[in-house]
Amino acid sequence: MSTDFKKLLPEAAAQFINNTWVASENTDDVKNPATGETIAQVAVGTKADTDKAVAAAKAAQIKWAATPQPQRADYLYAFAQQIEKHKKTLATLLTTEQGKPLAESEGEVDTAILMLRYYAGLGWKRTGHVLASNYPNHQAITKEAPLGVVAAIIPWNFPLAIFTRKTAPALVAGNTIIVKPSENTPLCSLALATLSKAAGIPDGVINVICGEGSKVGDALVKHPDVQLVTMTGSTRAGKIIAKNAAEKVIPVSLELGGKAPFIVLADADIEKAAQDAIDARMSNCGQVCICNERTYVQREAYEPFMRALKKAAEAIVVGDPLAKKTTMGPKVSPTEKEHVEELLAKTQQEGGKIFWQGSIPTDDKFKGGNWVAPTIVTDLPATATILKEEAFGPILPVVVFDTIDEVVSLANDCEYGLSSYLYTRDLIAAMQISDALEYGEVYINRYGPEEINGFHAGWKLSGIGGDDGEHGYQIYVKQKTVYLNYQS
Ligand code: NAD
Repeated sequence: MSTDFKKLLPEAAAQFINNTWVASENTDDVKNPATGETIAQVAVGTKADTDKAVAAAKAAQIKWAATPQPQRADYLYAFAQQIEKHKKTLATLLTTEQGKPLAESEGEVDTAILMLRYYAGLGWKRTGHVLASNYPNHQAITKEAPLGVVAAIIPWNFPLAIFTRKTAPALVAGNTIIVKPSENTPLCSLALATLSKAAGIPDGVINVICGEGSKVGDALVKHPDVQLVTMTGSTRAGKIIAKNAAEKVIPVSLELGGKAPFIVLADADIEKAAQDAIDARMSNCGQVCICNERTYVQREAYEPFMRALKKAAEAIVVGDPLAKKTTMGPKVSPTEKEHVEELLAKTQQEGGKIFWQGSIPTDDKFKGGNWVAPTIVTDLPATATILKEEAFGPILPVVVFDTIDEVVSLANDCEYGLSSYLYTRDLIAAMQISDALEYGEVYINRYGPEEINGFHAGWKLSGIGGDDGEHGYQIYVKQKTVYLNYQS
C-alpha cells in the first residue's frame, strides 16, 4: 500500500484552524475498510476547538468578503490546480480511507476540481439584479451579500467532492467555512486543507474540525457565530441539525437520504437499462444517495431484463480497491456492513429470494475488511422493508409491475424524494411519468451522476435547500435591496 498521501497530512494528529495544525488531546484510529488496518491517527475535536475555528473564520471573513469576487475566484482556481497536481495521491488516499475502487476515486478527484472551477467561473458573473422601480428617476438594485461563517458537515461517501461542493460556492460568495468531515473519512478533508494552504487561501478562510457529529458537529451548529449550516448525510442527523438551526433562526441546506426508484418500461433498451441498473446500484458499493435502491420492471420485459441484469452483475469484480481490475470495494465501516447484512436477512425472512449473489475476497489480507457480496433479490412482498428503507449497500431488489399508473404509485409511495430513473423509448410516457414522479431529480435513459450545472435537491425527507449550479449558489448568499433616487 502506497502511503505517499502522508505528505498531505499533519505529522501528528491535528486539526486545521487558521491555516495552522492544532494538536488535540484526544485521537482516534482511521482504518482501511478493505483490511481493517489502522492507516493514521486523527484528532478528535472538542467544543473548545470549534470555538477556536469559528473565531478564526469570523475574523477572516471581513477581509475575505472585501476581496473582490473575481479575486476570490482566482483562489479557487489555484486550489483546483493544487488538487490536479496531487490527483494520484488524493485518489490513493480516498481509496485507502473510504474503500471505493481507484478508478472511482480518480473520478471523484476530477469532480472536486470541477466544483472549484465552476464556482470560480460564477464568481466573475454574479452581480445581483437591477429592478424596475414604480417611481420616475428611481432605481432598485438587489445585491448579494455573504452570510458570514458557514459550517459544512459532510459524509464519508464522497469526502473529496462534497468538501469542494460546499467550499467553492461558500468562498466565492464571500463566506468563510469550517468543514466537519465524517468520523470515517477525516483524512481526505485534512489533505484538502493542506492543498488549500498551498494554493494561498488566506488564514481562517477554510478550517477543518474533526470528531463526532453529536459533539463537535452539534457544537458548530449551535455556535452563535455560525450563520449557515450546509450538511450532507442522513435524515436522522438532518432533523437534529434543522431543529438546532431553527433555535438560531439561521438557514440550513440539507442533502439527506434517498430511495431512488429505477423504472424500466417494456419498450426500453433492455440491455442498457440492465447495465445501468447494476452500475447505479453497485458503484461505490451502493453508498451513493442517488443509487438505484429499487428496480421496477414491466412484466413483458421481465425475463429478458433479468437475463441481462445477471450478465451485468456477473461482470462485477469485488476485491482489492487499489487493483486496476476491481469494480467494487468494501463498505466503509463495520457498522455499515452490519446494517446491510441485517437488511438482507430481514428481506429473506419477509419472503424475498436471492436471484443472484456475487462473492467477496477470501485472501487473508482482507479478512478484517467490511466486505458485502453484491446481491439481487426478487419475489418481494409490497411491504418488504428493503422497498421502504434506504439500503445504502450493494443489495438490489427487483419488482414486476403491469401498468404505468401502478409503477408511478409504487415509486411515489416513499418518504424520500431525491432521485429517480426511467427507461423508455416512448417520449410521451417519459415526459408524463417524469412530471408525475415526486422527486427532485429524474434521470431518463441515463444513470447519474448529477451534473454541476443542475440542482441536486431532495424533496420530502431527502432534504431542503440543495447543491450545485446557480440554484445551489443562492444558499450561500443573502439579498440586499438598495433603493436609489436620482431625481435632480
Ligand atoms: P450521518 O448523518 O451519520 O453523518 C453525516 C455527517 O453529519 C457526519 O459528518 C456526522 O459526523 C455529522 N453528524 C451526525 N450527527 C450530527 C449532529 N447531531 N449534529 C451535527 N452533525 C452531525 O450520515 P453518514 O452515515 O455519514 O452518511 C450516509 C447518509 O448520507 C445516507 O443516508 C445518505 O443517503 C446520505 N447522503 C446524502 C447525500 C445527498 O446528496 N443527498 C449524499 C451523500 C450521503
